[in-house]
Amino acid sequence: MKLDIKSIPEGGSLDFSDSYDLSDMDFFGEKPIAQPLNFTGTVSRRAGLWTLTGELGTRLHLRCDRCNRRFTRDKTLPVTLSLALSLQDDERDDIAVCPGGICDLGQIAIPEWVLDMEYVNLCAEDCKGLCPQCGADLNSGPCDCQ
Ligand SMILES: [Zn+2]
Ligand SMILES: [Zn+2]
Repeated sequence: MKLDIKSIPEGGSLDFSDSYDLSDMDFFGEKPIAQPLNFTGTVSRRAGLWTLTGELGTRLHLRCDRCNRRFTRDKTLPVTLSLALSLQDDERDDIAVCPGGICDLGQIAIPEWVLDMEYVNLCAEDCKGLCPQCGADLNSGPCDCQ
């Protein structure tokens, strides 16, 4: 979805709601973004400056790195960025450039989300994992080893 931020009157704002299909995106052999990634928020214009505030969210489909169990987790990520029509003197990562005043929401949302994906996923903080000897899931009780 693309927003024409120049059409927002001074002092005004524009709500948006967009979603993306990232179900083919691979993370360490898994495709955890099985459901649409939603992006909702507002772009406001004050004193000639645009600010985007919004929230990304979806239900991730993950596999526990300790016990291999599949689980889901609802995750949200707040996003706050300034929007500029052209790049200012320094490149700053809290400013998104919208050439010609056209803000491509997907180009903002998808990198923000991907950069925030965890490297390690656990079904629970205290997941006991698998027995290194027999491979039993120790969450369902102790095994006969040792
Ligand atoms: Zn686990
Ligand atoms: Zn065991």
